[in-house]
Amino acid sequence: MLLLVDLDGTVWRGDAPVPGVAELLVEREAQGDVITYVTNNSTRHRADYLARLAAVGAPASLERIVTSARATALHIAGLRPRVERVLAVGSPGLVRELREVGLSVMSAGEAAEAAASGVPAAVAAGNPQAVVVGLDRHVDYGRLAIASTCVRSGALFVATNRDSVFPTEHGLAPGAGAIVAAIEVASGVAPIAIGKPGPLLLRVAADSVGVPLEGAVVIGDSIHTDIPAARAAGIASILLLTGVTRPEHLDGLAPGEQPTIVARDAEELRAALEGLTA
Ligand SMILES: [Mg+2]
Repeated sequence: MLLLVDLDGTVWRGDAPVPGVAELLVEREAQGDVITYVTNNSTRHRADYLARLAAVGAPASLERIVTSARATALHIAGLRPRVERVLAVGSPGLVRELREVGLSVMSAGEAAEAAASGVPAAVAAGNPQAVVVGLDRHVDYGRLAIASTCVRSGALFVATNRDSVFPTEHGLAPGAGAIVAAIEVASGVAPIAIGKPGPLLLRVAADSVGVPLEGAVVIGDSIHTDIPAARAAGIASILLLTGVTRPEHLDGLAPGEQPTIVARDAEELRAALEGLTA
């Protein structure tokens, strides 16, 4: 069985591992499951997560970590006609993922600097065929302007994810979706969004390990991203109550929006997986 496993709130919460989950994943892998990690985070390269997964004892390899940045890179690399030049609004981790699939990438920061010195926007941005937007903690007016101009001029608009906020130790901070929305409004063009709650991240993750998505199971802690992504992909979902969702949140969901199974902890997750395999 292919297990598509979320990270934050599922494998770890903040700096602490979620008790028993890494050990359970080791067991499931030994029994023949393929474990692949899927996260909407667009800021880090997979290598950062590989180190962290190894530190908590979870089974992992670079090709089985599919962030929204990696999935966006793979999605764009698979497009026909080919996309070769990309303008990126995002972190160095996103730029690295895009370059590693062979794309020629200009960062919006560099492009905005060139445009500010009088170079026409399209030229400053390297005549991109696509504009990729993820979380950029240094986003400013110049970056929004050049990205919007390129999208309005016909470049494909691809969002790593549309998360409106993400949790930090100081509370909620604006997510990639807040930046995507600004460019959407300014350009008048709606993006293709790769991350959950759509199905694309899951599809790309299954493709990247060469396992059919049919019959896979999503394991995650969010009723706003993980569970609707599974539904959109037509596969089962297990909601873990170890992260952002509390039991009472489920009361507000329509029957069609409920997870296939709810698990309070790793023990209940083990039983849920055994039930699905039986
Ligand atoms: Mg999560």
